[in-house]
Amino acid sequence: MTSEPPETPPTPLLDVELVTLFPEMFDSFLRASLLGRAIGGGIVRVNRTSPRDFARGRHRQVDDSPYGGGPGMILRPEPLAAAIETAEAARGRAYRVLLSPTGRLFDQTSAVALAGRGRLMLICGRYEGVDERIADTFAEDIVSIGDYVLAGGEMAAAVIIEAVARLVPGVLGCETSTADESFSAGRLEYPQWTRPPTFRGLAVPEVLLSGNHAQVETWRRLESLRRTETRRPDLLLRHPLTKDEQALQDGGKTKRRKKPR
Ligand code: SAM
Repeated sequence: MTSEPPETPPTPLLDVELVTLFPEMFDSFLRASLLGRAIGGGIVRVNRTSPRDFARGRHRQVDDSPYGGGPGMILRPEPLAAAIETAEAARGRAYRVLLSPTGRLFDQTSAVALAGRGRLMLICGRYEGVDERIADTFAEDIVSIGDYVLAGGEMAAAVIIEAVARLVPGVLGCETSTADESFSAGRLEYPQWTRPPTFRGLAVPEVLLSGNHAQVETWRRLESLRRTETRRPDLLLRHPLTKDEQALQDGGKTKRRKKPR
């Protein structure tokens, strides 16, 4: 009788190390939807390591009061360092990202860059934050997901994992589906409709039912520009209109939708 060679699991295209005091917060997130399927299929791998497992003493205390005084508690460096080093000793060096509201703002460009790294470590803070020596010693990047303060880095890490994983080939199932999405070229995506053709008196724009692909394409580009102008003029400042877009807009002025939203 011949026996099959044991199946080696595929090498993940995105390999994430999470360093978090609350690994259980990711349980359902990592099981659900496209990400759950990508993890099941071995395209994405997410490992979780808790600094609590490396804390000393009966109470396994991971935090302490800040030097110089002030409110709240700061995560001590030793348990975090041990968690980082243990995860890397087991599975290899990763590009280390510390999550902090003081970091550079995460956006679609950062998601693309992180997707290119292949192996990432997301270090989640809690309480009043993390001893600065963790940033000094380990962090290659310090990232914030927005100008607001969360209670911990876990939700920020989930945002980053989802934004990055959907850029990994095979995760979405359709390789072209991220190409003309919002932010991919400094523009917001055009509006979309599906069935029914009329809902509560609101009809789908006729051009989308015309079957004329060239007209649909032009209309969508114009709508994308209008929406960007109305909702995110800052994007247009950073990515000014190209000559092509200018011409498109000049030609489209007479065909403006009644109520651009
Ligand atoms: N005292 C810190 C400050 O004012 O900058 C805030 C600490 S916050 C309550 C605790 C942890 O949540 C941070 O260490 C960080 O890991 C995470 N966090 C909070 N807001 C975040 C954000 N906007 N982006 C990324 N991580 C964030």
